[in-house]
Amino acid sequence: MSQSYVIVGDGIAGASAAETLREEEPDADITIITDEGEPLYNRILIKEFAKGKLPEAPISIHDESWYDDRDVDLELNTLVTDIDPEGHTVTAHDGTEYDYDKLLLAIGGTPTQLPVENSDAEGIHHFWTFQDARDIKEHIEGADNSVVIGAGLLGIDLAAITAAQEVEGKYLMRGKAWWRYALSEEGAEIIHEALRERNVEPVFDSGVDYFEVDENDRVTTAVDPNGDRYDADFVGIAIGLNFNTEILGGTDIEYDNGIYTDEFMRTNHDDIFAAGDITEFHDLILGDRAQNGAWGSAKEQGTIAAKNMVDYGSEEFRWVSSYSITHFDFPFLSFGHPTLGDDHVEAKYSDTEWRRLAIKDGKIVGGVLIGDLSPQTKYKKLMREQVDVSGQKEVLVKQDFQLDDLEGAAAEQ
Ligand SMILES: Cc1cc2nc3c(=O)[nH]c(=O)nc-3n(C[C@H](O)[C@H](O)[C@H](O)COP(=O)(O)OP(=O)(O)OC[C@H]3O[C@@H](n4cnc5c(N)ncnc54)[C@H](O)[C@@H]3O)c2cc1C
Repeated sequence: MSQSYVIVGDGIAGASAAETLREEEPDADITIITDEGEPLYNRILIKEFAKGKLPEAPISIHDESWYDDRDVDLELNTLVTDIDPEGHTVTAHDGTEYDYDKLLLAIGGTPTQLPVENSDAEGIHHFWTFQDARDIKEHIEGADNSVVIGAGLLGIDLAAITAAQEVEGKYLMRGKAWWRYALSEEGAEIIHEALRERNVEPVFDSGVDYFEVDENDRVTTAVDPNGDRYDADFVGIAIGLNFNTEILGGTDIEYDNGIYTDEFMRTNHDDIFAAGDITEFHDLILGDRAQNGAWGSAKEQGTIAAKNMVDYGSEEFRWVSSYSITHFDFPFLSFGHPTLGDDHVEAKYSDTEWRRLAIKDGKIVGGVLIGDLSPQTKYKKLMREQVDVSGQKEVLVKQDFQLDDLEGAAAEQ
């Protein structure tokens, strides 16, 4: 009898799992369920659409015929509300039940709302879906001034959208630096300067205490905890993700921030797997639980999960994640877990070139490169192979660093 697979989530993790399952099991029944109204699109390109730099068409990855051609049942606009691990079913909002032999949860996250007065007013945007990008584009094109909150990788996309649409703006940050858990003030200043050149002013030691609105409940002003007021008819908020774990309530599937999996992407239930942003997976490189929030990692986890759903133990997830930013004249890349570590080393080479490596127990666990990305392959190799770089921090950040420069590293190459 053919196996039945149900995948919840048609993001890159779920869709790549469907593709792999079909390749591995030509006769299986495969259903993919999503609460969105459109099939897989390129989430990392929706910012280019909102900037006005790309039309809609190239952002879509699959149309419905992609699923038909592979005999995959696609259920759009369908929110899964319940999972019954014992009965092997999931239930949708309209009461439809889907039976499975194996289930994949690739359900990602939802932007965190700012818990302040009027944060649901008209003109205040969060950013995760293509529909969000359409709403943002439509609004920012007619906006006069903007405020962005959230000094991380998604916040900077919102700031870059306001800049590309030539809307003057303020970027309110806690602390004194953009992404202060991964960059020092010296490194972040390169980003701050690039924002200023684009008429987006970073405001430090700030945030939002409350928003003021007009008689139509449209945002007019952000007021920060210092009492400073910033007029804005467009506000973008990116303060993090809440992972979509609410459907696990009432089950004994183990989760905390995300769903716990082993290195084969399996949960504590033999027939339930998880992939993508939603997982807190056993990271073989870190030797600990970890969570990635990157496209390449989610794609790989979907593929690996599918292989292990067919044949458990066949392939493990061992991956150094990367995330690049392309808004500025210089390139930017973060890799691994740049906010972790018990030690770090950094160096600045010019006004647009800087590097920082995060180190834990003598091994590289992540980093940020600005300006020159060429050493990334070497650093990722050292990280993947868990090479002990204790006592050689300064060698690592030599501008033209080569693996041979490391004592003892030659043996590892
Ligand atoms: C604006 C933006 C820019 C980004 N830029 C980059 C970048 O430059 N580089 C990079 O590496 N990463 C980037 N990312 C992050 C990257 O897009 C994510 O890491 C990746 O898309 C995660 O894929 P996923 O399949 O795990 O989750 P998602 O893409 O979030 O997909 C999960 C899907 O499951 C659906 N779902 C959830 N719960 C249910 C339910 N109960 N029932 C039915 N459906 C459900 C959701 O609606 C969603 O469609 C960016 C993200 C955004 C939003």
